[in-house]
Amino acid sequence: MKTSDELMTLLRRIDHKGYPAYKDTKGAYQFAGYVLDIEHVQGDPFASPSKIRLLVAGKDAGLPKDLYDKKHKRIAVQDYLLRQFGKRLSKVSFTAHGSGKSGLMSVTRCGQEVLERSGCEIKETDGSVIIRMEIGFPANGRTINAGELIKILFSLLPDVVKNELMFRNMDQKNIRKVAELAENQQYIRAELKKRNLAAFVADGAILPRETGVSQKPMKNAVPFQSPDSMKVVFELPNGETLSGMGIQRGITLIVGGGYHGKSTLLEALERGVYNHIAGDGREYVITESGAMKLRAEDGRCITGTDISMFIRNLPNKVNTECFYTEDASGSTSQAANVIEAVEAGSDVLLIDEDTSATNFMIRDELMQLVVTKDREPITPYIDRIRELYHQCGISTILVVGSSGAYFKKADTIVQMDEYRAFDITDAAKEQARAYEGADNEVTKMVNIKLPDFQRCMLSNRSFYDDRTKIRVNGSESVSVNKNTIDMRAVEQLVDAEQLRALGHICKYMHENMLNGKATLQEAVEKVTCALEENGFSSICGKMVPCDLAMPRIQEIFACMNRCRNVKLFD
Ligand code: ADP
Ligand code: MG
Repeated sequence: MKTSDELMTLLRRIDHKGYPAYKDTKGAYQFAGYVLDIEHVQGDPFASPSKIRLLVAGKDAGLPKDLYDKKHKRIAVQDYLLRQFGKRLSKVSFTAHGSGKSGLMSVTRCGQEVLERSGCEIKETDGSVIIRMEIGFPANGRTINAGELIKILFSLLPDVVKNELMFRNMDQKNIRKVAELAENQQYIRAELKKRNLAAFVADGAILPRETGVSQKPMKNAVPFQSPDSMKVVFELPNGETLSGMGIQRGITLIVGGGYHGKSTLLEALERGVYNHIAGDGREYVITESGAMKLRAEDGRCITGTDISMFIRNLPNKVNTECFYTEDASGSTSQAANVIEAVEAGSDVLLIDEDTSATNFMIRDELMQLVVTKDREPITPYIDRIRELYHQCGISTILVVGSSGAYFKKADTIVQMDEYRAFDITDAAKEQARAYEGADNEVTKMVNIKLPDFQRCMLSNRSFYDDRTKIRVNGSESVSVNKNTIDMRAVEQLVDAEQLRALGHICKYMHENMLNGKATLQEAVEKVTCALEENGFSSICGKMVPCDLAMPRIQEIFACMNRCRNVKLFD
């Protein structure tokens, strides 16, 4: 490896030359306490900035092993280091000057969720730390200004590295708190399973967000308070005691008047599959990690999903056991979303009436009289919800404001009233019985069978070639070459970087896994194992981009299911 002195000599030599001479700097250099690897050099000062990888050896970083010996702690500490590094970096960004992006120094920006990111990695084996960042190599016009890059690489950056990546200089109390919070969150997650809970919302949690476009907590919000009947208590690993609402597995309704906080509670549960940072208000809103929010999604494509449990005997005789469409309706899309969530391993489904297809959710009695069952292809969710739980172990948490028909199917009914939660299960059931008179028996369950999930997708050459381009459009879609995958309805994607990672995963799967032999489940399983073992480099090869965040396995399925122009092997 070259030394930092060699880099200094090189930079002095190319000063005042044309911008392309910067290309010679590519390579790794040993600095005091870390390696600076210039992985990619930008073509001109206005192009996307140069990509730098920093590697601090374990002995130099000096992180105590108990901060990263478990995956959940490692991810939380990585997230913390990245935030701290980014904060200090932003203070010196653009203090070196020049044209275009000259002087820019940045790492990714983290949101409220704690995600595994390519921006910072701690190696579990030796405690070494990797940071991936961007630097705008300075120039005046297109003439290299090496003096400014020397300032960045030999003065500004070493200072940030020393203060934020070396344990002896860190705020050690804070970093321990981060690991402690992760321990507590992980403990609750594990307890959910043991106690047959689908989710937990702590007393005192702040659920609403600042605005519709900000995930920061709302100020002066009404803190969450569990109804007594649903209260559960945890003795946390750090010795604290925490109480809150435990949502039992089964069928849970969230009811209440408009604007009383129903959707806010459900949204908090949706995001409870991720851990949140201290101060977010949802630190202790913990949902079963595989829970899936699903909704109607008109216009999506469906590739051979078996939706016959909900829809059969369509007028044009199409086969709903292997249903294809380029343009699904509200009900067929929601049916596919349920089945595909189950295929992706979810056993807790989150549904909001606001974003559902009405004819998928219910059929009222008058309608059943007028349009008889044999003329209606749809078996609504209400006629499958108990079967799904009792026969397949799939719980539902459902927000309903307008249909009392679900009362008799529910195990638990929570009413949100002025942002306060009440357990109204008994009262609501009694009302329902009185209302329906003699005809109030819960209808007998029918036997349902989940599909066998033997779908094998076939790879499509247009998803990969020598120079596959992956582009993210806001948080709405990701394009792999010319294939745009619309992910707007996949609401538990919380970061555009997850979308970008999905683009890479999608490319990788098309290139390596969809050979007609592996089922979709087997293929996704394989790619998640690879990611688990070798991180992002298992899907991106040698140069890992600095802006990837790990999606859940459920979102990998969701992405593959939304690729258009994909065929099944038959
Ligand atoms: P619903 O789904 O019942 O119609 P929402 O969940 O959409 O109601 O909430 C309505 C409004 O109330 C939103 O603007 C939300 O931010 C606000 N809100 C929700 N929960 C709280 C709370 N605990 N304290 C203060 N405001 C809240
Ligand atoms: Mg709502």
